[in-house]
Amino acid sequence: AKIETMSAEVVDSNPYSRLMALQRMGIVKDYERIRTKTVAVVGVGGVGSVAAEMLTRCGVGRLLLYDYDKVELANMNRLFFRPEQCGMTKTDAAAQTLRHINPDVAIESFTMNITTVDGFDQFKASVTHPGSGKSSVDLILSCVDNYEARITINQVCLELQQTWMESGVSEDAVSGHIQTLIPGETACFQCVPPLVVASGIDERTLKREGVCAASLPTTMGIVAGMLVQNTLKYLLHFGTVSRYLGYNSLKDFFPTMEIKPNTACSNGRCLDAQQAHQAHINSPEALAAAA
Ligand code: ATP
Ligand code: ZN
Repeated sequence: AKIETMSAEVVDSNPYSRLMALQRMGIVKDYERIRTKTVAVVGVGGVGSVAAEMLTRCGVGRLLLYDYDKVELANMNRLFFRPEQCGMTKTDAAAQTLRHINPDVAIESFTMNITTVDGFDQFKASVTHPGSGKSSVDLILSCVDNYEARITINQVCLELQQTWMESGVSEDAVSGHIQTLIPGETACFQCVPPLVVASGIDERTLKREGVCAASLPTTMGIVAGMLVQNTLKYLLHFGTVSRYLGYNSLKDFFPTMEIKPNTACSNGRCLDAQQAHQAHINSPEALAAAA
């Protein structure tokens, strides 16, 4: 009864009032901080477009969108894009819809391939503060569907000491995962071979020649929800930020785990970051704070 009275009071036409109620109920200390945050979403496909919409509706300050592809009719089994947007670049189509949903969010659209030499430089520059050379974003979300693009994001994040979150959906569309990567503190993308989420389906039925990957709006929507929930917890400091959270829809199994950095990682930047992290946690200040 108490909660009912509380929420009845705060409901008005302002779309932020339901978000601000999180603060009144003690879940988040300072929800409005979200207006000061910048999130980069790399890959505006089945997961990235939905994640971008969620962040827009949550009122994030700035949203940077990266993708090289155009909207196609074949994408209509996913959420977000509409048939009349076919032929537009995914980033421009997304920016158009998102600005309409929430004009308070500053949306920047980058139609580009991040894995080319120029693409890498442009992507890195767009997330770097020109003066300090440090990262200019609060978080990078990887919503791409290939290894090369993930390696590129990993490299930029190691160079900028930038935390990022990676997401993936299996080829059979029935499982997925999200992972938080903190340079030096957790495994980087090259520390361990990529995790293939076992779904119990025979690899041979999956990898037959000419068979395209399956996709479901349900699994992609759930993974996008897991990714943005983790993003909100990370940006607004509430709850526990998951280091790895899997989703197996066939068994309704959500495994979690920690993935430690590999001291023999092939990426030198990762080894430097690991050393810096060790020095930091063994510093007199950190030891005093822990005591
Ligand atoms: P499908 O291949 O199954 O038809 P898709 O290509 O839309 O689907 P998704 O998994 O829905 O794939 O989304 C991944 C998104 O990441 C795509 O929109 C794709 O264009 C984008 N992407 C992948 N690699 C890069 C890259 N190197 N640079 C920019 N965007 C990328
Ligand atoms: Zn590593």
